[in-house]
Amino acid sequence: MTFSLHGQAVSGGIAIGRAHLVSHAILEVAQYQLRERDVPAELLRFDQAVAAAGAELHGLRSEASVPGAPAELSAFVDLHSMILADPTLTDGVRELIRERRCNAEWAVVQQMQLVVDQFDEFEDAYLRERKQDIVQVVERVLRVLLGKTRKLAKRKTSTDDDLIVVANDLSPADTIQFKSLRIGGFVTDLGGSTSHTAIVARSLAIPAVVGMQHARPLIQDDDLLIVDGTRGVLIVDPDIGVLQEYRLRKSELELERSKLKRLVSGRSRTLDGETVELQANIELPQDAERAREVGADGVGLFRTEYLFMNRDELPDEDEQFEAYRSVARALAGRPVTIRSLDIGADKEARALRNRAGNHSATNPALGLRAIRFCLAEPQLFLVQLRAILRASHYGKIRLLIPMLAQAQEIVQTLALIDLAKIQLRESRHKFDDGMEVGGMIEIPAAALALGPFLRRLDFLSIGTNDLIQYTLAIDRTDGAVAHLYDPLHPAVLKLIAQTIQSAQRVAMPVAVCGEMAGDPKLTKLLLGMGLRQFSMHPAQLLEVKQQVMMADAAQLSLRVARLLKFDEPEKISELLEKL
Ligand code: PEP
Ligand code: MG
Repeated sequence: MTFSLHGQAVSGGIAIGRAHLVSHAILEVAQYQLRERDVPAELLRFDQAVAAAGAELHGLRSEASVPGAPAELSAFVDLHSMILADPTLTDGVRELIRERRCNAEWAVVQQMQLVVDQFDEFEDAYLRERKQDIVQVVERVLRVLLGKTRKLAKRKTSTDDDLIVVANDLSPADTIQFKSLRIGGFVTDLGGSTSHTAIVARSLAIPAVVGMQHARPLIQDDDLLIVDGTRGVLIVDPDIGVLQEYRLRKSELELERSKLKRLVSGRSRTLDGETVELQANIELPQDAERAREVGADGVGLFRTEYLFMNRDELPDEDEQFEAYRSVARALAGRPVTIRSLDIGADKEARALRNRAGNHSATNPALGLRAIRFCLAEPQLFLVQLRAILRASHYGKIRLLIPMLAQAQEIVQTLALIDLAKIQLRESRHKFDDGMEVGGMIEIPAAALALGPFLRRLDFLSIGTNDLIQYTLAIDRTDGAVAHLYDPLHPAVLKLIAQTIQSAQRVAMPVAVCGEMAGDPKLTKLLLGMGLRQFSMHPAQLLEVKQQVMMADAAQLSLRVARLLKFDEPEKISELLEKL
């Protein structure tokens, strides 16, 4: 039956494909005791489910061998086949069915828990991580037992072979893993449009809709779905007419995107000759390649916290150094702005869970996150500072500090940077002694009292995502207040414009690296405020460049000055349209 659901559009484009439900809800199975005489049939049912799950994996193995399939796919299929064949899992289940007369689903979940608990005891982080694979294998067997077999044959012959992830919620740590998987799009029931989950979706350029509220319970594995990431619509089981219309729109969008590629080599200059720097936001070192492909003028924001996620051990100094150096090398002399660890709020790293402030704070967005956390954990911070400084020898690296609000935080941070330099000199490591240090302006207090930032730092970068969150008191991740998250609120516009103007008055470089910088509908507004440095995901860069090339900076400056005099949202929107 066709139906549609609406949520928040967070990453544009259209994906057409089959639903892949991710949640552990499947592990909440019925629990009952069998009659003695039903035990043999239950054992047979379990053995058949294991065989069917094995056959599914076998089918996946052939898919994994086709040229172009990601290497990770065959590795995970092999590992899952091994787990399924291991008697530790299956013998225990048979015993529970035979001896305790548990139904097969219940027995499977109990045995899984037993095995997973043993994995928790392992010292070796890699082995501990493997418990996720056991859970996934168990989910596969349960799906068969519950009659929810994934129709692999259908998927293989279908042309709609995008995989669309449907989840109650996804953390940024979950989403970052999509970078190595082929996911066509995703929808979640929770979440807001500038949550980091949404930001990662934009960086992947995959269509996504969040805050759907009821998608997860209403959708079944393998349902045919259309995700319209531009309008925030999900269509389930579309009829043929709708499907054809969306296929057409999808190919039109692809055509438009490929036309934009012509702009890669063009200069980013306004009609009246103002040069505008367009830089890239990246989450992982491998994203640097995309930045180069679209001709970015450098990396304006490297969100290093993603290096710390999905692992039990922290990355040590050498590992971090390698990651930072690889980006510096990939950018071949163009600036690379590395932001120090901005952990906390929705960005969680389990390796840091028991550290200062512990992230289960009642109100984590206002808690010990980002620079506050780093200053509370100076040893951990020093490791990162040394790694960044060492990488500065191999390119033009700049250090960016997130979430500063107090002059004292700047002083303490600069003192720690000096200490890191002393330590590196002692260990005879090379680094760029003149590495620039900048601050993010993302707390209203910083924007309103810029003096210490202008006097002590080398550059500024405005983080509009948090600046809006804190100015309007709207949780970025909360779908219930997402409609109030407004980049055009007059208070927000004033803070951004004032920051740009104050920096320019003392010739301090200033960029915007929040999501506003990558929204082509806002390019002219920011140009009119005087902004000449934008940083955004590579996927957004060419559209913004197109806007820059069609803009007249001098004219925009006058028009935006007028727009900023108004404080009625309707008037602001009206004038924005006319820019
Ligand atoms: C911001 O707050 O605008 C920003 C760029 O940082 P993040 O989105 O990582 O919090
Ligand atoms: Mg921020």
